[in-house]
Amino acid sequence: MSDALSITLKADQLNLNARKVVKRLQESGFEAYLVGGCVRDLLLDKQPKDFDVSTNAHPEEVRDLFRNSRMVGRRFKIVHVRFGREIVEVATFRAEHPEEDHDTYDSSHISEGGMILSDNRYGTFREDARRRDFTINALYYDPENEEVLDPLDGVKDLEKRQIRLIGSPEDRYREDPVRMLRAVRFRAKLGFDIEQDTRSAIGEFGYLLQDIPPARLFEEVLKLFMSGYAQRAFTGLTDEDAFRWLFPDTQNLLAESHHQKLIDLALESTDTRIGNEMPVTPAFIFAALLWGPFLKERQRLIDDEGVTIYAANMEAANNVVAKQQLFTSIPKRFSGPMRDIWFLQFRMPNKTGKKAASVANHKRFRAAYDFLLLREKSGEDLQGLGEFWTQYQIDNPLDAQGSSRGRPTDHQNSGRQGSRRRRRKRPPRAPST
Ligand code: ATP
Ligand code: MG
Repeated sequence: MSDALSITLKADQLNLNARKVVKRLQESGFEAYLVGGCVRDLLLDKQPKDFDVSTNAHPEEVRDLFRNSRMVGRRFKIVHVRFGREIVEVATFRAEHPEEDHDTYDSSHISEGGMILSDNRYGTFREDARRRDFTINALYYDPENEEVLDPLDGVKDLEKRQIRLIGSPEDRYREDPVRMLRAVRFRAKLGFDIEQDTRSAIGEFGYLLQDIPPARLFEEVLKLFMSGYAQRAFTGLTDEDAFRWLFPDTQNLLAESHHQKLIDLALESTDTRIGNEMPVTPAFIFAALLWGPFLKERQRLIDDEGVTIYAANMEAANNVVAKQQLFTSIPKRFSGPMRDIWFLQFRMPNKTGKKAASVANHKRFRAAYDFLLLREKSGEDLQGLGEFWTQYQIDNPLDAQGSSRGRPTDHQNSGRQGSRRRRRKRPPRAPST
């Protein structure tokens, strides 16, 4: 094949389980390759996050070949092959969409705006490649023959360090507007440029993101902000004017006072933690992203609606979360801790006696304290409140939740993503005699 490059990837980078899956498929007479982001990352000498396999075997055939597998997905069926905690995703080659050809393709599969709604037609490897988003994501690697198949010049774009959509940007963004967010994400992740046409169309078609279900946008926000390059992703989103489609109320406040700085600092802190392999939680990031809208709504309720200060917190949080859910969902396990972080900000000025102790004992104190420090760092004048709580923890090591000693800035430890909530044991109290 003319577009096959012979490349040997380092054996230790190649995932053994993904290799096993490819091998078994090939031995059963099917075509099979590693595909997409994992090949891209391997060629860039980065460790891939996950490994995907692409094959001409149909999902049922894949499932029958692997005992440890199950079929998932509605829009497009794929098979998860499980090896302990690791999953290798196997997808069947997808057929190309005949864009204007509504006679041969049931138009109920495409929305009026051109978005693909359902999608279970199988095709060849070349068709599959054309259905992928960017050229650098349309690379196929055959580990047995040590060959990279590159039908769309993805390697050239890797060398040029550019992110280029396959096909016409307008069509591809209409089919799936999330590709705009993916372009920004890969730029942040890889440090590449976005090719000019691919880039300029983001500003033009960003509004299409309004058609995407909030649950999917939430997932994309997690990928953007919880992968170690959140700060660059945020800058990228605002540069391309795409942020407004995710957090419209926040967007409107970015120019005002300290809001942008606070978000930037929260994302920087998240990136640093991920770099140090420390746990992070979306609750903290959402607390920073929506702090501005929360404060504004709270003030409006107090000034215009005569709501009491105590009720204003609850009501403002309810309203802000309800509105944000129209854009990105926020699961309760994150919105709960986010509200705690916010509400504690209003309790932290209580510096004495039982009130202070009960703040310090709150299970979200650690995150709230860190949030307070970021507010100060962003330029808010809180009259030394951060310093007070730093000193408080040193003076009252048993009050602060968790083992505070020696770790006065260990925020984000509560509600970590993906893990079950666990009650944290309080440090043993000294005997009272
Ligand atoms: P990473 O896993 O590092 O975030 P990735 O490129 O592997 O990046 P995934 O979301 O894991 O991204 O998707 C795997 C592959 O599936 C992509 O490389 C791409 O080929 C294809 N793909 C994913 N999402 C889309 C999409 N919205 N449109 C077209 N192709 C897509
Ligand atoms: Mg991937």
